[in-house]
Formats: sequence, C-alpha cells, structure tokens
Amino acid sequence: MELENKTIIVTGASSGMGAAAAKLFASEGANLVLGARRGAELEALAASINKADDRAVFLAGDVRDAGYAAALVDLAGKAFGGLDGAFNNAGIVGEMQPVPDMAIDNWTDVMSVNLTAAFLAAKAQIPAMKARGRGSIVFTSSFVGFSNGGMPGMGAYAASKAGLIGLARSLASDHAAEGIRVNALLPGGTITPAGGEGDPAALEFIAGLHPMKRMATPVEIAQAALFLLSDRSSFMTGSPMIADGGVSVRLV
Ligand code: NAP
Repeated sequence: MELENKTIIVTGASSGMGAAAAKLFASEGANLVLGARRGAELEALAASINKADDRAVFLAGDVRDAGYAAALVDLAGKAFGGLDGAFNNAGIVGEMQPVPDMAIDNWTDVMSVNLTAAFLAAKAQIPAMKARGRGSIVFTSSFVGFSNGGMPGMGAYAASKAGLIGLARSLASDHAAEGIRVNALLPGGTITPAGGEGDPAALEFIAGLHPMKRMATPVEIAQAALFLLSDRSSFMTGSPMIADGGVSVRLV
C-alpha cells in the first residue's frame, strides 16, 4: 500500500482526474478529504469508497475561497487527525481565444481558479503539514504551461499552469527543510470533461498532437500523482513532472 494511513486532500474530486485519483489513493490505503463545488458527485464518490472501507469524507465548496481551503484542512484534522498530502487539482480551461480577443474576465477567472486557489491551498495546508513534520503537495499543472504543444488560444490557461510550476518550485525551496515536498504534475491531453470528453472531433485533434497518438486516461495521470504523494518520490521536490505522452517533445 503506497499511501497507507496517509490523509490526503483531493480537489477537483467530482470529475475526471480528481475522481480517478481519489479511487486510486483509497485503494492504496489513503484517508481522503474530497473537494469540489458539486456536492452530489462528491457524496456519491465518498459513498462508493466507503463501501469498501470507511476512509473518505467530503466538503463542497469553491477553491477560490480562502475559507474553503482552510475548512478542508480542518476536516482532515477532525476526521483523520492531521494532513499528509494534497492533490490540488481543481482547474478550468476557460474560453480559448487569442489574447487580443480574450475578455479580461476570462483571464481573471482562469487565474483565480487555477493559480490563486493554489496559493490559498498552500497557505492553509503548509502549517498543518509543518505540525506533522512532513507533507507532500502536488499541483496539477499542464503540458500547456511548459510547451504549448500546438494548442490554440490558451494564453490565460498556459500562464496559470506555468505559474503553478513557479509556485511549486518556490514553495519547495521554502519548505524542504520542514519535510514538506511540493511538486507540479504536467499531464498531457487526458480524456475528461475538460479534456474534450464527449466531443469526438476535439479528442481526435488532441490525440493527434501527441507522439503516442492518443490521450491519457484519468487513471494514468492519477498514477503519476500517487507517485508524487507517496514516499517513493521522497527525494523529489520542486519538480515539474511531465506525464504527457510525449506531446511536449513532439517535432511535428
Ligand atoms: P474536469 O473533469 O473538468 O475536472 C475539473 C475539476 O475541477 C472538477 O472536479 C471541478 O468540480 C473542479 N473545479 C473547477 N472549478 C472549481 C472551483 N471554482 N472550485 C472547486 N472546484 C472546482 O477536468 P480534469 O481534466 O480532470 O482537470 C483536472 C486538472 O487537470 C485541472 O487542473 C486541469 O486544468 C488539468 N489538466 C487537464 C488536462 C486534460 O487534458 N484533461 C491536461 C492537463 C491538465 P466542480 O465543477 O464540481 O466544482
């Protein structure tokens, strides 16, 4: 069991990679605090995990709210006695427009959900991890934050996801001596609602950008997150870890 008795917050757990990660982490022995806005989806996921073993709680809320970030940490303490890890994964793509055509509101929304929320999460999570003397934080960045990979109209999204790499590296430097590791995970195109699920033309276009000529399944990304949250990655901090089917090294 890779996460035996570790307590982990997973945001974006109502869908896609977050939901897949929650199921995988539970199967590896983790206690889970599940977050997202859609409470019904979180409730159903927690119930399905708890059928096997009582190890998931949830709290619905908006990651842009500092109070929600703190409440998830409080819940980890109340339900399981502390916090060992966080998969800060909630995110939005926003509208895809060339920057000259992009509304400032779209820029602001994307930055607040993808980047400011990560700052708020870290602010709430790090003191709890310090109290424990250890911790692992993973931000879901994207290949788009490192190498656009051929995706059009992604200025706001790319900036937010590149910002997560900078935030992870800065936090890694500040908190390594306290036993807290902070890494960014850079998935390639992944078959989820945000990744174009339900739109065959979009899936075909995105798959075609990848040298592997396919997209990831959510579980493939969850496996990379599992590695970063587990002690298997004990000497990794500040790493932008790429799991992208080669899209960032493609030549054509
Ligand atoms: P998804 O299925 O659309 O999931 C996004 C999750 O984020 C949902 O659970 C959603 O929950 C949550 N969320 C969005 N806004 C929120 C808010 N304001 N407050 C709380 N939760 C919020 O997409 P996904 O592909 O799994 O995305 C997970 C992460 O991977 C995102 O950060 C995304 O940018 C990143 N990523 C995706 C791909 C891809 O191709 N799919 C590639 C690289 C990186 P609610 O709607 O219930 O709030």
